[in-house]
Amino acid sequence: MRRLLSLENLTLTGIVLGILFGVLFPDVAIHMRLPGKAFLDLLKMIALPLVFFSVFASVINLGNVSRLGDLGWKTVLYYLSTTFLAVLTGIIVVNIILYLFPPEPSFATQSVAEIKKFSLEDLIRSFVPSNIVRSFYDFQVLHVIVIAILFGSAALYLSDEDRKFVSLFAGSFDRLIMKVAVWIIALSPVGVFALVAYVIADKGLDAIFSLWVYALAVVVGLLIHGVLNLPAVGYLIGRFSPYRYFHRVKEALLIAFSTSSSAATLPVSMEVATQKAEVKEEVASFVLPLGATVNMDGTALYESVAAIFVASLYGIKLTIGQQLIIFFTAALAAIGAAAIPSAGLVTMTLVFSAVGIPLEGIAIILSIDRFLDMLRTTVNVWGDLIGAKLIERFVSG
Ligand code: ASP
Repeated sequence: MRRLLSLENLTLTGIVLGILFGVLFPDVAIHMRLPGKAFLDLLKMIALPLVFFSVFASVINLGNVSRLGDLGWKTVLYYLSTTFLAVLTGIIVVNIILYLFPPEPSFATQSVAEIKKFSLEDLIRSFVPSNIVRSFYDFQVLHVIVIAILFGSAALYLSDEDRKFVSLFAGSFDRLIMKVAVWIIALSPVGVFALVAYVIADKGLDAIFSLWVYALAVVVGLLIHGVLNLPAVGYLIGRFSPYRYFHRVKEALLIAFSTSSSAATLPVSMEVATQKAEVKEEVASFVLPLGATVNMDGTALYESVAAIFVASLYGIKLTIGQQLIIFFTAALAAIGAAAIPSAGLVTMTLVFSAVGIPLEGIAIILSIDRFLDMLRTTVNVWGDLIGAKLIERFVSG
């Protein structure tokens, strides 16, 4: 009975009921916006302090800068290779699906005035903070990570006495924040119900049918990456059972699906990875926050599929060279995407501009973006979690 009433099962039930409620009673479900948003806000509220203190404490616990460097480059290597694997999967899948089901050319009718162009400069600036308070205020997770690494590294050069004090302080704060996070996570079943019911009532599932070729390519690509590629990497390189691991961390995946935000999911990912899947805290608290912000396999895959799909709607024949440009820019765009709902849609402009696809084309896929965001965010978070377990095997001590 206790197992049946576990948080994961209740959350899953919340999602299923949310879908049904949104489809059957859209007029009532539309009012679920407020409770859904409140849940998301609470998760976001705790996410940034959690990122700061966990990364800060993790750097201090690593004990010296060379261990930090060791963990850092292994993490980056894993993130880059799996992101490229994801884009490759997306490119192959969309080419096959477009070959099997060539879509009718159609053009955007909606305006994309609200989509701001994302440039390489924005990408670089997303790594460089200029004002600590502002970085927190603007929910710039990557800035906060950079600040935490900087201050954590500096702490390693303090006198023994000072370092002990700072480390004790950071560790205690980290645990305090985690306590609050656990309380917020306990609200998940109700929170996800409200979020999912609202999204379905607001967007309507019918748009999916008109863009089914595109949706199919994204879903098949994400499934291949989430069910085959990532588990294979975990099994072959990480030497752990991805199936068992999945069962331990699935609560985080359900939250990722419902919130469409890797950052909002972070408190849950940290909790399940360290408490249920026994990933070492110093590894999880470094790898997961960084992963939530820069490692987005699902987003990278979707960016490549979207670009190639929209190009085909415009009758643009992409050369191998252009597909190669998509390969790299989709990976960059995913790294630059903020860990919040629909962020991938904004950085998509980078990919479109790189190969000359009209930006208005983004409007075509806008209508079903929120649904695909749920799936790609789930894959994003799954990639981070596999990474934490895998990297743990390769760090000394
Ligand atoms: N919502 C995604 C995330 O937070 C980012 C995106 O692809 O829009 O992981």
